[in-house]
Amino acid sequence: MDYYLYNLIVLYKNIILNYAINDKENINLFKGKRLRLAEQLRAKGIKNNLVLAAIEKIPRHLFFDSTTAIPALLDHAYSDKALPIGEGQTISHPYTVAFQTEHLNIIAGEKVLEIGTGCGYQTAVLSEMGAKVFSIERQKVLFQKTKLFLPQMGYNNAKLFYGDGYKGLLQFAPFDKIIVTAAAPYIPNDLLIQLKIGGIMIIPIGESISQEMIWLKKTSQTTFDKKTLGIFNFVPLLQNKSR
Ligand code: SAH
Repeated sequence: MDYYLYNLIVLYKNIILNYAINDKENINLFKGKRLRLAEQLRAKGIKNNLVLAAIEKIPRHLFFDSTTAIPALLDHAYSDKALPIGEGQTISHPYTVAFQTEHLNIIAGEKVLEIGTGCGYQTAVLSEMGAKVFSIERQKVLFQKTKLFLPQMGYNNAKLFYGDGYKGLLQFAPFDKIIVTAAAPYIPNDLLIQLKIGGIMIIPIGESISQEMIWLKKTSQTTFDKKTLGIFNFVPLLQNKSR
């Protein structure tokens, strides 16, 4: 697409977004639905009150791609569904976000590496819990969009990177926690190296449409406690993608 036209579209989207964000009504819109979603997640077994408080607070309906944010879709923003965010990607189910976050056992101030920024919803949940988030996205368009969007939502501290999640972020390692939000065929070695001793990683592993959620704790430079926490569905963690 013509560069000038692209910038014009981005500018236009930002004007609309700014309007939506500055509009208190819009932030408070669906507040009741968010409370019910948090209740639903609690009923499904999520116990961590900080995770539930973040989900109650974050206006998930503003995280969708504005081109797909048609009222019918907005109405689904607070049902437990994975929804499109553009570039063929999806925002994870709220249950999946809550489940992965709960198992990370986040303590405020911890350094968390997120692989797969997407629309930034998971980044926002971690930020609300006081984590210092470093997040990598492989799709340039999504990266650019979310890099503009999160500060507008008040999340100024999360550091977003355009890059390959398989490689992690060596320059900011080690991390207290690592969360991978796309399905990997194996646990990337670079991520294991960049996890602190005592640190936790949560990562869906598998190459078919469903994957096993793997939880692991690094017990020494070379040893890990590992368990499987159930079956989930993620989009694939892309390999060898150059743009
Ligand atoms: N955490 C996101 C979930 C997005 S879905 C959210 O809350 O919206 C998974 C994301 O991982 C997609 O945006 C996809 O583009 C990204 N992704 C896929 N392969 C990747 C890779 N190798 N490195 C980093 N991000 C990747």
